[in-house]
Amino acid sequence: MTAAGKIIKGIAGFYYVYVKDLGLYECKARGLFRKDNKKPLVGDDVTIEILDEKDREGNITEIHPRKNQLIRPASANVDQALILFAHKDPKPNFLLLDRFLISMTYQKVPVLAAFNKADLDAEAAFERIAEDYREAGCPIISLSIHEGRGLEDLSGYLAGKTTVLAGPSGVGKSSLTNALQDTVRMEVGEISRKLARGKNTTRHAELIPLEDGFLMDTPGFSAFEGIRIPKEEIEDYYPEFASYRGKCYYQGCAHKNEPNCAVKAAVEEGLISPLRYRNYTALYDEAYEEEKRRYR
Ligand code: GDP
Ligand code: ZN
Repeated sequence: MTAAGKIIKGIAGFYYVYVKDLGLYECKARGLFRKDNKKPLVGDDVTIEILDEKDREGNITEIHPRKNQLIRPASANVDQALILFAHKDPKPNFLLLDRFLISMTYQKVPVLAAFNKADLDAEAAFERIAEDYREAGCPIISLSIHEGRGLEDLSGYLAGKTTVLAGPSGVGKSSLTNALQDTVRMEVGEISRKLARGKNTTRHAELIPLEDGFLMDTPGFSAFEGIRIPKEEIEDYYPEFASYRGKCYYQGCAHKNEPNCAVKAAVEEGLISPLRYRNYTALYDEAYEEEKRRYR
């Protein structure tokens, strides 16, 4: 008997294939590499031949065409990325958000940004965040996992998709994973224990089945490094600059210290978020320094 499923985990030559309504099968991929010249990846949609129903063993006979392939974490068919921050505790790092947005956009993966712990946000800081990112090209969602706020809204975005979950530690990634399904339990809170575990074991990308869709936990996000992008191209990732940048006095204006810069004027008039503009200049300077180092 054959079935269609998805690889959710790979360990030492075994692939764990999740088949909706039937559950998990431990599979080998005998003969597949010779046939297709393709190594299975977490996220691959596959056809398996069920070899032993009782022992839940199978063999992968076919890898279906991939929509895309991510290098880090090594995976296939990722539909979108969810980056989680907190309203506060810990304070959101917007430069990290922009770096992540640029890196994923470059890899053609749409991003959702969610801010958890809305219950702590007495100053309504979220309104400011939503305003700053209104034109950044990604939905911004407010959550309180503790109070169950925003989860329905988020589930709507996750439905039917494979979503890679990222974010700094302490923002509620484990809590969210637990809130969205009840098969896999993640340790909540104990950061020191989680870090110790992360150091000693090489964790691989793994998909967690949701009622409708899959969630991928990303190991080693703390070491997240954005893609290197030439300084002149960084502005391409700031859609809110688009209608101004053609109006700068200098062609090739970097929107920093040049006179008659239409982007800077728009920031001063409150048409572009100062936060987003500051992140742009920080990333521009960083790319500039990096290029200087490499070509010296
Ligand atoms: P992770 O490191 O990103 O996986 O974060 P955890 O899920 O381990 O959560 C870190 C801490 O934040 C824990 O003490 C959680 O109880 C707490 N936390 C998670 N969600 C919320 C929330 O909605 N509100 C508040 N106030 N705390 C939360
Ligand atoms: Zn300019």
